[in-house]
Amino acid sequence: MALIDLSNIVKTYDLGHQKVHALRGLDVRIERNEFVACVGQSGSGKSTLMNIIGCLDVPTSGRYVLSGRDVSDLTDDELADVRNLEIGFVFQSFQLLPRATALENVELPLIYRGLSKKERRERAEHALETVTLTDRMTHRPAELSGGQRQRVAIARALVTQPSLLLADEPTGNLDSKTGEEIVRLFLELHEKGNTIVLVTHEPKLAARCPRAVRLVDGLVVADGKGRDVALANAEALGAETLAAFQAAEAQQARTP
Ligand code: ADP
Ligand code: MG
Repeated sequence: MALIDLSNIVKTYDLGHQKVHALRGLDVRIERNEFVACVGQSGSGKSTLMNIIGCLDVPTSGRYVLSGRDVSDLTDDELADVRNLEIGFVFQSFQLLPRATALENVELPLIYRGLSKKERRERAEHALETVTLTDRMTHRPAELSGGQRQRVAIARALVTQPSLLLADEPTGNLDSKTGEEIVRLFLELHEKGNTIVLVTHEPKLAARCPRAVRLVDGLVVADGKGRDVALANAEALGAETLAAFQAAEAQQARTP
């Protein structure tokens, strides 16, 4: 049984005077322990898809089965329960509480779980170890680099041991080297058994994922090995992106 099974998903935003067809009958299946990149031009429907996969929103029509349960038309409260139990989110803008330390930020999702303070602390410390931030636990976000902030956000997403880690452009606010490090961390988390869906507009990062899907106008137009799909996406984005992709590949081939 697939962890994520989306069939004929349609999402239409109704703005009153205008309807926006963000997803137009999309089908995707993702198994447990997969690491899938989602690529495509701005406006192609990536975030809409992530919001549906993450139970932040429901499709206009179509069927979404998550872990064997049909979640296509749950109420807001039911969706919130599924989110809390199954899903860890990582966002481009980190979304950390500025006044809280790294440790307190990571503990936060556990507060609603009825764990003792000691258990929460232990679990949060362990999550921060997983992202190699043990030496920054008492720092506040402003005292951390962008890459470190994103690591805290990843620890916060992991601390509840979700079935699924969703990351929408997690490297979008980071320089290219730090972005690479974050993708390396996701690759390690995948090795440890996590299921991950990652949106990225950077073909060279998508190329490192075992699988990628490419969206165009709310439909999946390619689904395959990360490198193949990323190359097709880079081609579609134009000569400049393609050249950058090829340069990055050549550079990687030279690095031992
Ligand atoms: P991407 O993440 O690939 O850039 P989105 O999923 O954000 O794409 O957007 C897909 C389409 O849906 C775009 O045309 C966008 O303008 C539209 N859209 C996204 N969110 C909303 C919304 N809340 N209300 C109306 N239109 C939206
Ligand atoms: Mg988006």
